[in-house]
Parts: sequence; C-alpha cells; structure tokens
Amino acid sequence: MRLLLHTCCAPCLIEPLDRLRDAYDVTVAYANPNVHPWAEYERRRDTLREYAATRGIDVIEPPYDPASWAERVGPLANAGAERCRACYALRLGQAADYAATHGFDAVATTLTVSPYQDAAAISEEGERAAKRASVRYIDRDYRASYPEATRRSRELGMYRQNYCGCVLSDVEARRERAARKAARQAEKAARAQAAGGSGES
Ligand code: SF4
Repeated sequence: MRLLLHTCCAPCLIEPLDRLRDAYDVTVAYANPNVHPWAEYERRRDTLREYAATRGIDVIEPPYDPASWAERVGPLANAGAERCRACYALRLGQAADYAATHGFDAVATTLTVSPYQDAAAISEEGERAAKRASVRYIDRDYRASYPEATRRSRELGMYRQNYCGCVLSDVEARRERAARKAARQAEKAARAQAAGGSGES
C-alpha cells in the first residue's frame, strides 16, 4: 500500500518512519505552508531531505504557499486551539489532496510525535481530510516516542527548531523564553538577597 506521510520536520519523522515502513511503501510529504519565515521553512525542509535520503525515502513538496495559511488560519490568530486545528486541517488537506491525485492509497502524519500538539484534533482533521479526498487515513498517536525521537535527533546532530512553525508561535515561544529567563533571574536575585541578609544577622 502506498502511503503519503505528511511530515512537519526531520526529528518527528524518525520514529514514525521506523514503525510504518515495514507495512507501507512510504513517501514523505513536506506540506507546511505554516512555517515562517522562508529561511526557517528551507532549513527544516533541507534537514528533512538529508535525513530521508539516508533512509532511502522520497520527499515530495507542494509549492510553498504561506498565503493559504494566512487566509485560512490567520483570522483565528487569537482563537487558541481552534487556530491550530485550522492549521492541521490545511496541511493534512494539502497532503490528502496530493495523495489522491498521485496514486497513493493512504495518508498519515508525524504531527502526533510532539506532545505540544493536540493529538485528538489532528486525528479528527486527518480523518476528515482523507475522507474528503477518498483515501485512507492511518491514524497513529506517536507521543510516547517523543523522548526517543529527541534523543536520536540530538545524537544525529539534526537541526531542532524552538517554535512550532507559524509567526505567532515564534512570538509566543520568544515571550515564554523571556518570561522563564526573567523568573530565573528574579529567583537568583532573591537567593542572593536572602544569603546577604542572613550574613548580616
Ligand atoms: S502554533 Fe503550530 S499548529 Fe498552531 S497555528 Fe501555529 S504553526 Fe500551526
């Protein structure tokens, strides 16, 4: 059975590929118009291509179309989980349409490797997209393999991004890192003050 595996990035491909390739004839689809900016899109894609080549797996890439993401997902910028659901629907829809028009029997995704993603929403949107395109959806939850995917991708020296992909997630991740840094500094200052205070008494 020919399977088109939607793949967000190389680190998330490692474990699903090991599990799927014995049962399916796997081709990877880098269908990610969410990724911003272009340099980041290229870096993730090139890392993915390099890894796929080492495993003898073909990678297809629909034209990069960030306008489609802005149109479909942009209006939901402040809609929390619904924003990400629309993003999954867009990407899995793109992969399912490609699968249907290029002779694939089924579509799947690596998105569920990340514990930061909404696995239930991914499953629902994957099923929906596949049904609309008249292909099968191979529904798998890979969250348990995240620690091993992290270990192996580090061992391979792979590029590992520090935000989900869209411009909004980049801003959110920067804010979270800044907040954690500020909290660490405040804690350090408080400890130093406490140590100084105890020295005086
Ligand atoms: S945070 Fe990730 S899943 Fe959510 S909209 Fe942005 S790129 Fe898509």
